[in-house]
Amino acid sequence: MSAQAAKSALVVGGSRGIGAAIVRRLVSDGLHVTFTYAGSAEAATAVASQTGALAVLSDASQRESLRRLIDATPPLDILVVNAGALVMGHPHDLDPVAVDHMIDLNVRAPYHAAVDSARKMPDGGRIIVIGSVNGDRMPFAGGAAYALTKSALQGMVRGLARDFGERDITVNVIQPGPIDTDMNPADGPMAELMHSFMAIKRHGKPEEIASLVAYLTGEEAGFITGALLTIDGGFGA
Ligand code: NDP
Repeated sequence: MSAQAAKSALVVGGSRGIGAAIVRRLVSDGLHVTFTYAGSAEAATAVASQTGALAVLSDASQRESLRRLIDATPPLDILVVNAGALVMGHPHDLDPVAVDHMIDLNVRAPYHAAVDSARKMPDGGRIIVIGSVNGDRMPFAGGAAYALTKSALQGMVRGLARDFGERDITVNVIQPGPIDTDMNPADGPMAELMHSFMAIKRHGKPEEIASLVAYLTGEEAGFITGALLTIDGGFGA
């Protein structure tokens, strides 16, 4: 039996893309995994039936829905907040409601999920949020609001790492570069421009992010906290 076998994890946003890869990886490492979805019931059902993970409908952008989810989740060892939205465009053209929704999902949800989950975590728990290399570097126009949400997570993990450190709960942000998902397809219109900023000129695979998540959940990673872990093919180098 693996060291991870008795542990439980909640993945917020696990129906597609990076989140689905995280669910698959954590299940294959022996964890009991619950994951949420909001809009993609069919994809969530497929991930659940293929992995045995439990899928729960819960809109992370709604504070009340998120609170009920964490209340209803049995004590958990590992929280991964992956759900996120991307709204790009000139700030004068963007719908302010869409920007506010992105801030609710990308910033408020990780904060409240982390704080609420830590209350019920045993000592040694793990909190991992999926940020972006755009928290460090936004090399083209139109990404101010998205970059704002991802750099907010940097301050959040630094602070929460100190708040929860006395219980050996680690809090870290993983900062991917371009990853091939519905949000950012490898054959999308921005792909060539993005590759021009990179040392390794390709999109990453969701599984490459999931493997870093898996490492952070393990015993060997217990001394990593308050860290910004960038995995971006050199996008930010
Ligand atoms: P996708 O759009 O491919 O998938 C997003 C996932 O988040 C889906 O499972 C979706 O579920 C879930 N989700 C969206 N809104 C909500 C919500 N309100 N409540 C619960 N779950 C929700 O995105 P990616 O996999 O590409 O991105 C995942 C994370 O990685 C995001 O935080 C993103 O910002 C970040 N990231 C992505 C990069 C990339 O290049 N792909 C690069 C850097 C960071 P459903 O459809 O069921 O609502």
